[in-house]
Amino acid sequence: MRIAVAKGDGIGPEIMDAVLRIFEANKVPLQYEVVEMGKWVFDKGFNNGMTPEAKQNIEQLGLLFKGPMETPKGKGVKSINVTARKTWNTYANKRVFTSLHGVDTVFSKAGIPINISIIRENIEDTYGGIEHMLTQDVALCRRFITRPGTLQVMRYAFDMASKKKVTRISCGHKANIMKITDGMFLECFYEVAKEYPHLKADDIIVDDLCMKLVTRPDLFDVVVLPNLQGDIVSDLCAGLVGGLGFAPSANIGDHISIFEAVHGTAPDIAGKNLANPTALLLSGLAMLRHVGLYENAATIENALRYTLESGVHTGDFGNKNTAAVNTTEFADAIISNFGKTPQQGAVSYSGDNKVYHPAAPISEHPMLESAHRKAEAIVGADLFLESHQQPTAVAALCEKETAGIFKLVTISNRGTQVWPTGSVYTNLVNQYRVRFERQEEKGLEQSDIVALYQRMSQHFKICSVELLNQWGNQKAYSLAQGQ
Ligand code: NAD
Repeated sequence: MRIAVAKGDGIGPEIMDAVLRIFEANKVPLQYEVVEMGKWVFDKGFNNGMTPEAKQNIEQLGLLFKGPMETPKGKGVKSINVTARKTWNTYANKRVFTSLHGVDTVFSKAGIPINISIIRENIEDTYGGIEHMLTQDVALCRRFITRPGTLQVMRYAFDMASKKKVTRISCGHKANIMKITDGMFLECFYEVAKEYPHLKADDIIVDDLCMKLVTRPDLFDVVVLPNLQGDIVSDLCAGLVGGLGFAPSANIGDHISIFEAVHGTAPDIAGKNLANPTALLLSGLAMLRHVGLYENAATIENALRYTLESGVHTGDFGNKNTAAVNTTEFADAIISNFGKTPQQGAVSYSGDNKVYHPAAPISEHPMLESAHRKAEAIVGADLFLESHQQPTAVAALCEKETAGIFKLVTISNRGTQVWPTGSVYTNLVNQYRVRFERQEEKGLEQSDIVALYQRMSQHFKICSVELLNQWGNQKAYSLAQGQ
């Protein structure tokens, strides 16, 4: 079986070479197609950080094992890592955090074992990177949460929890505040939960989740979260098991999957042969299991655990009174421990290795769309406009332009209502959201909104427009705070 390998930047080549050496010593039956991807490729003029041959190879092989890659600093340059995850629709980011005997933490010392899998939605949310300056003072980031995208990650999370035979799966969210976006994320969680009645499915607000994770991490099995919250919570979990050096990650998609460590290129120690390769090795072991190479994965993981248990450590962890080994020596120690069984956390594999079949190639973009659609109507519009006038003055100009079709319903500033009611103590910035709704029950056309835009543009610079939709009897927009 051939897989694509991108060694990455900074410590990437050092830790990748160490891991591939461990794989070769264990006769892992994989062949590696080394592809050109990373900051150095970006510097050669390929603005998505990979050569066309690399893209073609990865799409053909369906599996990418990658080292960390540096995001070039400066405006207008997107992260190569995020681009890869999004372009190839690796919708579920699985990060498994397990206590490793020999890696001392507050919890290991207290005898509290940790085994948490974070499933982070990997494509959507503010990671869309769709940002605009609405005025010179006001920046806006659009946050996409989609129903089909969320269902993909929920199905993966429940399926994984079921196969892992865990009892509890939790959804972390902020649906108490972001009722439409996180609300839909949560709704999809419970929708898929109905297909897995043997799992205890519950939800928890993300701030409460953070508090509980640092007090009773042993209470959680699988936690599924939107992209940004998942990113933050997974670094918190990395801290629980000893730091970024022990945090692996698998980006799972239907056609292409990417396996990489959570950490970055560690420029401070790059080129010194000091880096800890454990996180990349654990990511590689997840890849071996993904393709059905359970026996190799178990032997290598047991050797890793035995090595850690015996006190061998790189400089970033372990007993400061014993000398640290370098990256090469750490890999050598693991290789010398093949066949040994750790005292704690030994892994076993049952039965035969499974035969992995890559997904068949596709020639068109899959269109993800919900099957059941309700009747749709446009019932108004929010206009985001620039003004440094007081709300009553803005309202007076807006009301002049409603022309019988629209009524002015509310004006808000940074999401807080300031007209028709509000408080003078609400500070203002020079950008209002002005909401117009239809006067009568009859539907509006897009052309009515365009005409409103034109009339309003005589008085204001309009930075953005958002339609107010209704699906069936349900409003498809949020109310302003205080409305
Ligand atoms: P980082 O993870 O590279 O480093 C944070 C700290 O952890 C540093 O002190 C570093 O020395 C240490 N560290 C990280 N990995 C280690 C390892 N394996 N062994 C020992 N110590 C280790 O985070 P950063 O400094 O914020 O980012 C550096 C670069 O990496 C940036 O360009 C960033 O965009 C990129 N990055 C890439 C990825 C990825 O490829 N998936 C992820 C995160 C950051």
